[in-house]
Amino acid sequence: MTAKDFSKVANQLEQKPAKWAKYIKHNAPIKRAFGRSVKKCELCGTTRGVMGQWQLNVCRRCFRANAQKLGFKKLN
Ligand SMILES: [Zn+2]
Repeated sequence: MTAKDFSKVANQLEQKPAKWAKYIKHNAPIKRAFGRSVKKCELCGTTRGVMGQWQLNVCRRCFRANAQKLGFKKLN
């Protein structure tokens, strides 16, 4: 739960401020200085398989989908 982006829940609870406050009290992610959850994919937001090399900051799946747009060339 700490790594997830809870914007979907925010959309549901924006009409109910009391429930939103209770939700934040119990479910807000811990603010971390380092670790896996600090690095997130800039395109999809996942924390798994994120490449920080060459300051890409995208996950392996988004990299595969967008490598040619970024200027990478597939050799085989
Ligand atoms: Zn991604």
